[in-house]
Amino acid sequence: MISNTADTNWDAIIIGGGPSGASAAAMLAGQGHRVLVLEREKFPRYHVGESMIPFTYGPLERLGLIPKLKGSAFQKKFSVQFTQPNGQASQPFYFFTRYDKETVAQTWQVLRSEFDEMLLNHARERGAEVMEEIAVRELVRQGETVLGVKAIRKDGTLMEFRAPITLDCSGKESFAAVRNGWRAKDPYLNKVAVWTYYQGSKREQGIDEGQTTVAMIPDKGWFWHIPQHNDMVSVGVVAEGKYLARGGVKEPKAIFDREVEENLWIKDHLSVGKQVGPYYLTSEYTHHSRHCYSPGLLLAGDAFCFLDPVFSSGLLLALKSGVMASDAVHEALVARDFSPERFTDYGVALRRSIENMRKLVYAFYNPDFSFKDVIMKYPEAADEITDCLSGDLNKDFSHLWARIREFCPLPDELALGLPFDPKLQLAQV
Ligand SMILES: Cc1cc2nc3c(=O)[nH]c(=O)nc-3n(C[C@H](O)[C@H](O)[C@H](O)COP(=O)(O)OP(=O)(O)OC[C@H]3O[C@@H](n4cnc5c(N)ncnc54)[C@H](O)[C@@H]3O)c2cc1C
Repeated sequence: MISNTADTNWDAIIIGGGPSGASAAAMLAGQGHRVLVLEREKFPRYHVGESMIPFTYGPLERLGLIPKLKGSAFQKKFSVQFTQPNGQASQPFYFFTRYDKETVAQTWQVLRSEFDEMLLNHARERGAEVMEEIAVRELVRQGETVLGVKAIRKDGTLMEFRAPITLDCSGKESFAAVRNGWRAKDPYLNKVAVWTYYQGSKREQGIDEGQTTVAMIPDKGWFWHIPQHNDMVSVGVVAEGKYLARGGVKEPKAIFDREVEENLWIKDHLSVGKQVGPYYLTSEYTHHSRHCYSPGLLLAGDAFCFLDPVFSSGLLLALKSGVMASDAVHEALVARDFSPERFTDYGVALRRSIENMRKLVYAFYNPDFSFKDVIMKYPEAADEITDCLSGDLNKDFSHLWARIREFCPLPDELALGLPFDPKLQLAQV
């Protein structure tokens, strides 16, 4: 069935109702704009990525969601720790050594089905129209300008929607970046992850109950251990594909079970309780978009950049970019001006955040780097490391990078993320 008239009743169309899309939608609808969210799934839906970091507080506060989160069952999180293969644990990095314990320094481990539904319902409450079970198939263009999208409903109905601006918040499938040929890989961050869930397994007590543990295995692989509410734990292993599949092992459960033996802390914590649900696997890792914008099209969240999740930066970048995108779009809608330069600050600020986190991620995977060695040599570096791990990503970390460079090389910044301006026809890469 084809609906042959385009629905032009919108100021902004948002592809995807995950954290970036829902936060942009809530903000824009709250400012009185007519916002349409097109989401392929029916919420609540499963999603990985459950650990937040402190600087999600800012966007969540702007969204007006802090009271809901404080009243939720989500597990509170105050710190992150690292454990060695022999089970030895580092001192926890408590965020409250640097930030206010009652606000920024306390964050949450969330169940994404519940958290994402909370965000999407919030967008609805603020006035956004949300359509679920509708997949965007195509960007509608006139020359280089995106005029809207074509989408297909679950019942097969094809629909067309138009608006002066479309936000691509489709997650790491990066709907627009793939179609525009903008997607760039990060060659050194090409990992595989295998994960599952445990119920009733061992967890820390008191203030450490909700702590994220990053547990090292050989070859710079690592486990995440994320305690959630309802006595559930999300636990997954990340490493080079070659390492995980050594000896021809391919089955996710077999990979997972073998690596559990490689870290005594993980082995001990999973020695009680029961494994629940499927084993998941992904090999889609770290990618960047060459541009954040072209006329009529803005990218946010994973659709703009998906960074290796070792420091749990994904939700921060999704919420932050959703809110930042809404600011830039609001101004453009008010001015009725969608010229690319309006979105330069957005792209530059987001890339600055990403590049800071990316440096720490590169250091983490370098065999010559350890947090312990850096802090032994420069005790004051612990504060800056805590800041970066907290997601305070737009500050100047040049001191920290200079110190870390004494142990291992760090990557140059990628010259990516500026708006694409067809008038200039210069490859701004
Ligand atoms: C293994 C792994 C572990 C991770 N761990 C963490 C962690 O601990 N902490 C953390 O902060 N982050 C983590 N992340 C990252 C985190 O999951 C993402 O950064 C976050 O979900 C990004 O939000 P988003 O809104 O950009 O995209 P998503 O949450 O993926 O939402 C995108 C939405 O768009 C919809 N969609 C896609 N295509 C279409 C289409 N064509 N039409 C309509 N709808 C569409 C999808 O159904 C989806 O609901 C992890 C990621 C992985 C892979």
